[in-house]
This record gives sequence, structure tokens and C-alpha cells, in this order.
Amino acid sequence: MTHQILILGGTAEARQIATALAGRGDCAVTLSLAGRTQNPAGQGVPVRIGGFGGAGGLADYLRQYDVELLIDATHPYAARISANAAEAATRAGVPILALRRPGWQRTEGDRWTEVADVDAAVTTLGAAPRHAFLALGRQEVHAFEAAPQHRYVVRSVDPVEPPLALPYVETILARGPFETADELALLERHRIDAVVSKNSGGSATYGKIVAARALGIEVVMVRRPPLPGVPSTPTVHELVAMIAHRLGPVADRGV
Ligand code: NAP
Repeated sequence: MTHQILILGGTAEARQIATALAGRGDCAVTLSLAGRTQNPAGQGVPVRIGGFGGAGGLADYLRQYDVELLIDATHPYAARISANAAEAATRAGVPILALRRPGWQRTEGDRWTEVADVDAAVTTLGAAPRHAFLALGRQEVHAFEAAPQHRYVVRSVDPVEPPLALPYVETILARGPFETADELALLERHRIDAVVSKNSGGSATYGKIVAARALGIEVVMVRRPPLPGVPSTPTVHELVAMIAHRLGPVADRGV
């Protein structure tokens, strides 16, 4: 029997889960991407791209493709798709499991100012000109056009469109993971005195937090959005084990 599994992705963990499940040999895995990046990394399994049209559209998809298990492995700040996933799973009567990557914890030497959202991060930079590194999605950085007195370094996977209407901005196109040594060099080279970040958790983008700590730089940390309470685990390993437990042993196919 082949298990139809839909993974909502856009993260490295989603790719890892997809690879692990595909390796079982008894799962037909589809990975879903929103279509935000122009050249997404190879996912290793069949991919569908684009929104479903809200929770109702996702519920229809689950029914149409006889999905047996829905996995929410989206980014911790992708709150809308996670809410839609929980609602669609209920509507379609399909079980859902989520990967909930733990956030970074403030540690000694960290100078974090936690804010509710990106608009609050803009205000928190203050009136006096600063050198800010924006480690945010390219959809979110336009909010900083409200504070043109600062010098900005913006890093994103694809170019910011439309380009930022700011007098002092340098854009860096790069895809993580980012090493701490490189982040230290970047912060020093641009004389950064504020890093604006999400609390994404994980190791791939933690280097800038370590670098900011080492240099005594303030991190304006945008708080995580609330996510629906569905069965979840913090690691890929545990999630794959949970799925394996649910699906049972791989059937002997006589090979
Ligand atoms: P979002 O605000 O929660 O979702 C907005 C809409 O985009 C959803 O309502 C859905 O459209 C569509 N969508 C989102 N994720 C999708 C997926 N995996 N497959 C199909 N449709 C999806 O999400 P977001 O913050 O824009 O993030 C979009 C994608 O980028 C996600 O896959 C996420 O894992 C990834 N990502 C996000 C961040 C971040 O900081 N937010 C960082 C890294 C990666 P419909 O309602 O039409 O279905």
C-alpha cells in the first residue's frame, strides 16, 4: 500500500523529511512550496508550487489526492499557511503533524530588543541614523522605507522587488546557511550597529546572532507569531519517527 503524504515546505527540514519518507519506498510524497523563491533548492521529491486558495482550497486538495497524512514543515513565521493547514486537516478529516522548530534562547551577552512585528522593529531603530542589517524576508523589508535616515544592508535570496526606495541601502543576494565567521566579517565590514532578525531557530542562520553577541551589537528580534496547536515535534528525527510509528513497518515487497 502506498501512503499519500503532503508536506508543506519551504524549509530545509521539509526537504529532509521528504527524503526520509521517500526512502521508505511505501510513500508517495508531494512537497508543496508557496513559490516565493525564483529557483528553489532541489527538493528530492515531486513538488507542487503555489497557494491552494485558503483552508478550503487545501481541504479540497487533500480530498482530491486522497492525502493520508499532512505534514506542516513550514517556517515558524509562516503563520497563515500553518493556520490553514490545521483547519484544512480538520475539514478533510486528515491527520496532521507539524515540525515546530524551537526558537533561539537569549543567552549571556545577547543584547536583544524583542518586538511584536516588523513595523515595531522599524520604530525601535529610533530617530538617529544607524547602520542596520536586515536579515528578513524580501517581502518585509519595505517597511523600513518609513525610516530612510538609516544605512541598511539587506540580504535576501532573490532581489527585493520593487527595489527599496531608500537613499542608503546595500543588497546582498545569498542563500543560507551562513557561517559565524562570515557573519562577523559582514557586521564589521558594514559597521553594523543593529541586526533586525526573526527568531527563526535552528543553526543555519544562527551565525549572525552569535556574531552580534561577540561584537556587542543590538539585535532587534521580531517575536514569533502564534501557531495552531496540532501534534508536533521539534526535530526532523522525531517527526520522521512519529510518522513511521503512525504508518507502521514498511511492507515486505519481496525484493
Ligand atoms: P504565509 O504568510 O503563512 O502564507 C501566505 C500564503 O502563501 C498562504 O495562505 C498560502 O496561500 C501560501 N503558502 C504559504 N506556504 C505555502 C506552501 N508551503 N505551499 C503552498 N502554499 C503556501 O507564508 P509566508 O510567510 O509567505 O511563507 C511562504 C513560504 O516560504 C512557506 O513555504 C514558508 O515555509 C517559506 N519560508 C517563510 C519564511 C518566513 O520568514 N515567513 C522564511 C523561510 C521560508 P493560499 O492561502 O492560497 O493557500
